[in-house]
Amino acid sequence: MRALLFSDPLNLPKLFSASKDLAEEIYAVTWERVDVPVERLKVVKGTLINDCWVSYLHNEAKSFDFILMPATRNSKEIAPRLAIREGLPYISEAFSLKLDDGLLATRMIFSGRGVEELKTSIPAVVTVNLDAYEPSFGKPGSVEEEHMECSSKISLIERKERKAEVDLTKAQVIVSIGRGLKKKEDLSMIRELASLLGAEVACTRPLSADLKWLPEERHVGMTGVKVKPKIYLALGISGQIQHVVGFRDADTVISVNTDPDAPIAEVSDYFIVGDLYEFVPKLIEALKRRKGS
Ligand SMILES: Cc1cc2nc3c(=O)[nH]c(=O)nc-3n(C[C@H](O)[C@H](O)[C@H](O)COP(=O)(O)OP(=O)(O)OC[C@H]3O[C@@H](n4cnc5c(N)ncnc54)[C@H](O)[C@@H]3O)c2cc1C
Repeated sequence: MRALLFSDPLNLPKLFSASKDLAEEIYAVTWERVDVPVERLKVVKGTLINDCWVSYLHNEAKSFDFILMPATRNSKEIAPRLAIREGLPYISEAFSLKLDDGLLATRMIFSGRGVEELKTSIPAVVTVNLDAYEPSFGKPGSVEEEHMECSSKISLIERKERKAEVDLTKAQVIVSIGRGLKKKEDLSMIRELASLLGAEVACTRPLSADLKWLPEERHVGMTGVKVKPKIYLALGISGQIQHVVGFRDADTVISVNTDPDAPIAEVSDYFIVGDLYEFVPKLIEALKRRKGS
């Protein structure tokens, strides 16, 4: 079997690990030199436009049994376009792959509450969720450098780093707030509590995306940040699965909700039925008292 890997340089060593049991011959295309033990590594410079990569891979893809890419945003755009162009089946976000009279791929469904197994004929195009893979490093058999000439209808105008106000992935304690908060001004008591606890403030998506009370980088969940603090204090949060997947790796979850049947109870170590407008001021008072003594 022969596999072609197309990946950004950072993910390539993990993508190699995901593919090494599938194929005897593995080739890779990326745009910066990385030490991965493939037969041949092509380092192709000259473009960051997905459109161009689709055309480039169209010329490269012939005679491979698998074309594998990491399940990144860019690859998830390139892979299906390439599959259509080649007339090949496409599976997205597989987290494990196995040969079995074709290719067996497993992937998450319902935001991680279930898994499904899919079987496809070979050749196939697949994007792989690399979370569970360790990177493999080693000397490539050969390295070729190339400069791609591409005239796409799309051009890159500008790329710049956005200065994030916080990196929630590193926070040890998080005070997270949901729509139980009645108005933006009440964030001040949440910030005061967070400061007393040495915590970062996070939120559910409605507070950042809809109400714009907090910046996007503070929203936790499926479309937001995945956090793993020691303590996740969830205030006025119902516990919809799209939010819960973002703090599943927290050590201890404490939640406060007026609704005794709120779904967040099921994923909490401590569930307090109560009004956050009573709970937060009392906790602030107690923490101040403790600090004062
Ligand atoms: C495709 C898609 C992706 C999504 N991605 C995300 C995501 O990444 N992150 C995310 O957070 N959401 C996401 N959502 C939205 C998600 O489905 C929920 O709508 C959202 O998480 C609910 O936010 P909430 O818990 O703040 O609000 P609500 O569901 O309205 O819950 C508010 C809770 O506050 C309680 N409450 C009210 N007043 C008080 C009070 N005074 N004291 C204590 N408790 C009180 C209520 O009982 C209720 O349980 C996504 C949705 C979709 C469709």
